[in-house]
Amino acid sequence: MSKFIPYGKQSISQDDIDAVLNTLQSDWLTQGPAILNFENALMMRCEANFAYVVCNATAALHLAYLTLGVDKGDWVWTSPNTFLATANAALMCGASVDFVDICPQTYNMSVEALEKKLIQAEKNNTLPKVVVPVHFAGQSCDMQKIHALSRKYHFNIVEDASHAIGGKYLNKPVGSCQYSDIAVFSFHPVKIITTGEGGALLTNNEKLAEKIALLRCHGMTRNEELMTHSSEGSWYYQMLSLGYNYRITDLQCALGLSQMSRIDQFIQKRHQLQKRYDELLSGLHEVTLPHQSKEAYSALHLYPVLVPVEKRKIIFDYLKSKNIGVNVHYIPVHTQPYYKRFGFKWGDFPISENYYSREISLPLFYGLTEEDQDGIVNLLKESLVL
Ligand SMILES: *Cc1c(COP(=O)(O)O)cnc(C)c1O
Repeated sequence: MSKFIPYGKQSISQDDIDAVLNTLQSDWLTQGPAILNFENALMMRCEANFAYVVCNATAALHLAYLTLGVDKGDWVWTSPNTFLATANAALMCGASVDFVDICPQTYNMSVEALEKKLIQAEKNNTLPKVVVPVHFAGQSCDMQKIHALSRKYHFNIVEDASHAIGGKYLNKPVGSCQYSDIAVFSFHPVKIITTGEGGALLTNNEKLAEKIALLRCHGMTRNEELMTHSSEGSWYYQMLSLGYNYRITDLQCALGLSQMSRIDQFIQKRHQLQKRYDELLSGLHEVTLPHQSKEAYSALHLYPVLVPVEKRKIIFDYLKSKNIGVNVHYIPVHTQPYYKRFGFKWGDFPISENYYSREISLPLFYGLTEEDQDGIVNLLKESLVL
């Protein structure tokens, strides 16, 4: 290809640009009305009672865990097939991290593996405080079953829905928190909608919402009802816990709000491209296409294909040499050098590892054209016979 095609990319319209410019010329660059407007749009869209936007999804995950009381001595479990941040945010709370292997079909956390691990953990007295299902590639995990297990084994659920805004599960929007305590979105430019950097937490629980609001901004409040004694005047604020500056700006939220108006358009296009990839690649016996489950309507953040282990690097390098920005999602987190200190090693989560060794994410984003796609598929076919 003559131009470089990344695996994911934002789509910015004139309306997006105008929205940011208007905010830039307004009285508020941060902590103004765009933040509330964006939060309201997220709440409406996701059918959740509360939404808080923050500077990125890593911060959102950190706040989600802190809000649920995750601390030293607690266990947080997630999938090895995720970005580092899902697990790292638990380490930032001083907690211990463990993983649950994936389902070989959906590449999401396996409910069977989760149940097995819970039975074992109950015996060892190491049950998790929080389990974090990651909606890989935008397809929701089997939340109903994970939720049922949370009742039996008394853990909280944070959905890492970084890939999945705009998706649905059992006809309810991802982020509705029907089967979780908190759901987290990312608005990084490769994700479904963008604010440059940005993230959000959604919840239906008022107590959790209050804590999130405090921790997002230094643990301080101007709400007299929350104070330990009556306010000393209208200048007065109190710090009630050790919080962070995880705020996002109004400039970013103006972009986010504007992007929200096109979210259906974005996802429909992703579905069109996915169907076309499926058709164009269907005859290739060496290529395993991503499975779309019936209970979920995926936001289709990624189009992950599996190829034979021994050919993955050859195919990847060939596509890269032809200007196709393929990527690999994900290197299993437990295999990272930093995670070795916790005793993890290759072989611990074989399905995630096998998946990783065969995976290539093909470009999938709103601005990808059918010609681009034809070119990518032809190059992939060429690379299979190298
Ligand atoms: C992108 C991503 C994150 C982190 O998002 P940031 O907004 O970049 O902090 C976390 N988890 C998953 C699964 C992601 O894809």
